[in-house]
Amino acid sequence: MKILVINSGSSSLKYQLFDMESGKVLAKGGCERIGAGGSVTHKVPGRDNYTVEVDLPSHDKALEMVFSLLTDKEHGVISNVSEIDAVGHRVAHGGEKYKKSSLVDIEMINYLETIIPINPLHGPPAIKGMRACLRMIPTTPQVAVFDTSFYSDIEDYRYIYALPYEYYENDKIRRYGFHGTSHRYVSIKTAEALGVPVENLKMITCHLGNGSSITAIDGGRAIDTSMGFTPQEGIPMGTRSGNIDPTVIPYVMKKHGLTPDQMEDVLNRQSGLLGISGLSNDFRNLLAASQDGNGRATLALKMLANGIKKYIGSYMAELNGLDVLVFTAGIGENQYEIRRMTCENLDALGIVIDEEKNKNFERGVPFDITGKGSKVKVMIVPTDEEYMIALDTQRIVK
Ligand code: ADP
Repeated sequence: MKILVINSGSSSLKYQLFDMESGKVLAKGGCERIGAGGSVTHKVPGRDNYTVEVDLPSHDKALEMVFSLLTDKEHGVISNVSEIDAVGHRVAHGGEKYKKSSLVDIEMINYLETIIPINPLHGPPAIKGMRACLRMIPTTPQVAVFDTSFYSDIEDYRYIYALPYEYYENDKIRRYGFHGTSHRYVSIKTAEALGVPVENLKMITCHLGNGSSITAIDGGRAIDTSMGFTPQEGIPMGTRSGNIDPTVIPYVMKKHGLTPDQMEDVLNRQSGLLGISGLSNDFRNLLAASQDGNGRATLALKMLANGIKKYIGSYMAELNGLDVLVFTAGIGENQYEIRRMTCENLDALGIVIDEEKNKNFERGVPFDITGKGSKVKVMIVPTDEEYMIALDTQRIVK
C-alpha cells in the first residue's frame, strides 16, 4: 500500500510518499512560496535532490506539481497517480467535533470551515489541500489526522479556562492542545522500545522544537498538555512567548498603542527564545552565544529549561507518579544540553540522567539515558508525525 501524506501550510505544501509494507519513504519534498512565485524540492532516497523554480499560484497547482514529480520519468517513483492508495492530511485543528482521525468528506470540510475563526492560520491551507485532492483524485480515499484529537479525552476541569463560562459555551474558548500526532507517536514508540504495554505506563513527553509542548499521558491517553486554545500557551518557544500573565497584554497594547494584530505578532513572532535573547530563535545559535558569554542567550536557555521543569513537576502531580520522561523533536532529540539542564536537580522527584549517555546518545533511534538510581526512565525518542499520519490513514482505509 502506498500512502501520500500532505501537510499544507499557508504558502507551502509538504509531502511524503510511503510504502507501507516496508515502512520506507519513497519520495518526499515540499512546495514553497505558493501564491508568491514558487519552488519545489523533491527528494528520492539514493538520488540527487531536485529543485525547480516554478510558478505556483495556488495549492491546486502545487499539488499538480507534486503528482507530476511523483510520476515523472526521470524523478518519479510511481508510473501513475492511481498507484497512490490513500492520502493522509495533517490537520492542526479538529475542533470539538473530530475526536479521532477520520475519512475526509464534504461534511468534515464544512465543519472545518466553521472553526476557521479559532484556527485562522492553519485551517484555510489544510482545507485547500483537502479540496485540491478531492478534485484531482476523487476516488482515492483521504483521511484527516488532527493534531488536537489526542487530547479529546482530557477532562473538562483541565481544558476549561477560568474565564466566564460563556466564553467556552459560546465562543469555544478552551484548551485544545496541539502536536498531538507527535506525542501519540512518541508514546507508542517509547512503550515499544521498553517492551511494556503503553496501557501500563505513565509518561511525560516533551516535544521541543521551534514550537514546543509537553503532554502528560496515562496508559496511552493524554490527560493534560501545555498548549491551549492556540499553540501559544506553555513553555517559551522559538518565537512564541508561552505562558505570561494575561494582563501584560492589554497593558502593553495600551502603553505602546498596538492593535490586536500587532500584539499577536509580538506574542507569536517576536517573543520566546528570540525575544529574550534578542539574537535568534535557534537553539544552536543560542547555545554557541551562551558559551561565548552572552548573558541573554544564557537567560533564554535557563528560562526554557525551567519552563520544562515546571511542567514535569506539575504533570507528575497530575499523573500521581511517572514511569518515563521522553524528549523528542529538533531540540529534544539533538540538544543534550537542554536535557541536562532540565533534568538537573530533579533527583528529589526520582529523575536522574546518565551524563555520559546523554552526551553521547545515538541519533535516530529510541535511546535510554536513565542514570543510576533514577526511579523514572528517561528516553530520547525520535518523532515522525508523517509516518503516524500514514499509519492512521492505512488503518482507516483498510
Ligand atoms: P519545528 O518545530 O519547526 O519542526 P524542529 O523540531 O526542527 O522545528 O526544531 C527546531 C529547533 O531544533 C531549533 O532550535 C534547532 O536548533 C534545533 N535542532 C534541529 N535539528 C537539530 C540538530 N540536528 N542539531 C541540533 N539542533 C537541532
